This record gives sequence, C-alpha cells and structure tokens, in this order.
Amino acid sequence: MVHTRAPGKINVFLKVGSLLDDGYHDVAIAYQAVSLYEDVRAYPADDFSVSVTGTVELSRVPTDGSNIAIKAARLLARRTAFRGGVRLEIDKHVPVAGGMGGGSADAAATLLACDTLWGTGLPREEMLELASELGADVPFSLTGGTAIGTGRGDQLSPALAKGTFQWVLVLADFGLSTPEVYRELDRHRDRHSQDIFPVSIAPSVDANVLQALRAGDPHMLAESLHNDLQAPALHLEPSLASVIELGEQNGALAGIVSGSGPTVAFLTADLDSALELQIALGAARHTVVRATGPVHGARVIT
Ligand code: ATP
Repeated sequence: MVHTRAPGKINVFLKVGSLLDDGYHDVAIAYQAVSLYEDVRAYPADDFSVSVTGTVELSRVPTDGSNIAIKAARLLARRTAFRGGVRLEIDKHVPVAGGMGGGSADAAATLLACDTLWGTGLPREEMLELASELGADVPFSLTGGTAIGTGRGDQLSPALAKGTFQWVLVLADFGLSTPEVYRELDRHRDRHSQDIFPVSIAPSVDANVLQALRAGDPHMLAESLHNDLQAPALHLEPSLASVIELGEQNGALAGIVSGSGPTVAFLTADLDSALELQIALGAARHTVVRATGPVHGARVIT
C-alpha cells in the first residue's frame, strides 16, 4: 500500500483574460497551497476502483469512472503501459466543489501514489504534463507552496514567499460549478462590453501581490487579494456577500471568494485573530475551518 497526501489551494489573486479556442480562459493566478489535505491510499488490484471517506460533505463525489482519481490512475497506466489496476481510498478534507481544488488534489495524490505503487518512475516533467491533462489546477497541487499560474493556470512558475499566512474558511452547504461561474462571467462581460478585459493583453499577477507574498505580510496581502470570479459567484449566490461582510466585521483583514467559490477565505493578521474569527463565525452557525499556508505539494507519506 502507498499513502500520499496533497493540499487544497487558495487563489490569492485570479485575473481572467480572454476565452481561448479550447473553451478555457487565459488566466493569471497566484496560488497558495493550504493545510487542508486529501489523503489517498493505493492498494494493488487487477482493476480500477475508488471509495471515499472524509470530514466534508461527500454526496456529490462520484465513485465510478468519472471520479478524477480513477481518471488519473487510468491515464498514468495508459502512458506507462502498466497492465494492472489499483484500489484507491480517498480521505477528503477539502470541501467538494468549493473552489479549493479538492478534486485536483485527489488527482495529484493519485498520480504520485500509483507511480510509487507501480514503480513506473515517471520523470517530474512528464508527471506535470499528465497532471495538466487532468485539470488546470492539478499541476499546482503536485508542486504546492506558492506559485504563479498562467495559460489555463497550469503553466507554473514558483513565487518567493516568506512566513505563514493564517486563513479562516467558511464552507457552504452547496457547491458551485466552476464552468458555470466562468459562463456567468462571460455573460456579464457580453452585457457590459466596456468592462471587457482587453483581449489582446495576457492577464498578469499584480506586482504588489508578489511583494506581499515575498514579505510574508498579511496586511499587505489583504490589500491586494483579488478574484475576477468573485462577482459572478456572488451573482449566482448572493448570500455569500453577507458572509464576507460578517467576517470583515469580526476582525478579518479581508475576505475573498476562493476560486470559483462558494468557499469564502478570510485572511487574518495572526493566529489569535484567526481563532477569534473562527469562534464568531461559528456562533453565527457557519461551518468554519482554519488553515495555514503555504504548505508543501503532494508527497508520499508511507
Ligand atoms: P476547482 O477549485 O479546482 O475548480 P473545486 O474544488 O471547486 O475545483 P472539486 O471538489 O474538485 O471542485 O469537484 C468538482 C466536481 O467534480 C464535483 O462536484 C464532482 O461532481 C466532481 N468530482 C469528480 N471526482 C471528484 C473527486 N475525487 N472529488 C471531488 N469531486 C469530484
């Protein structure tokens, strides 16, 4: 048996550019891997199967061939001409369809687990290529830490980061579909053509975000958090606006919709304010978890 672990992520900056021919958007993302992990255990088997447990709502997670972990295992087997299968057990801690890359972390952890179990020894570069075929956020879950993603978000370059940031996350009891949130953004841009991001210019991450990450300064980072998907996510789920407001009234430096939502991520100044905010949001009957970042990418545990 091989046990691997891969992190979820928060996009501390996400700018959406033009719609590409393949249906994806050109994006510029600053990713931070955070301490909510997916654990994958891989056992030798003749065919491919998956079971799922965890601390988050699991009803929307498929356990057939459409589970991204099965897709990852099959893809690796095909590419390496491996003739067996694998039995996968996923222990989930990243909210499902929450905008924190839980499925992507499952795919990353599975690639690493199967590569280790099967002894296929795929070079790092090829592993990252397979990851990007599985989804735009999968390569980042392999590398972890802090990184800038361009193209579909899968062209990664590491970013310098200092210290540890303290996050408080409010989980929703519903999911938001990432493609649906992008479609809402496109609809909005069609209606308000004057707001359209200049399509000829590739989006880029603001210099002050990079500076805040390099300095490890949560106050500076709070000032520069940005997510182009926040407006469409709020449009689809107006209740998220009051969640952000409540967090900011209770000591958060800033609140932001994580990726395509509906998870709301609050950045706090230090551990004490994170604990206070966790209590305040919990008292308002929200489901709250704390996380820190950056953390390492996918790795083998045993
Ligand atoms: P991202 O932030 O990368 O856009 P997300 O965190 O919002 O993704 P996921 O939790 O990765 O969303 O899952 C999105 C959808 O993918 C789910 O609603 C589910 O139907 C499907 N899915 C397939 N495999 C998995 C998996 N292993 N875990 C969770 N969802 C999965």
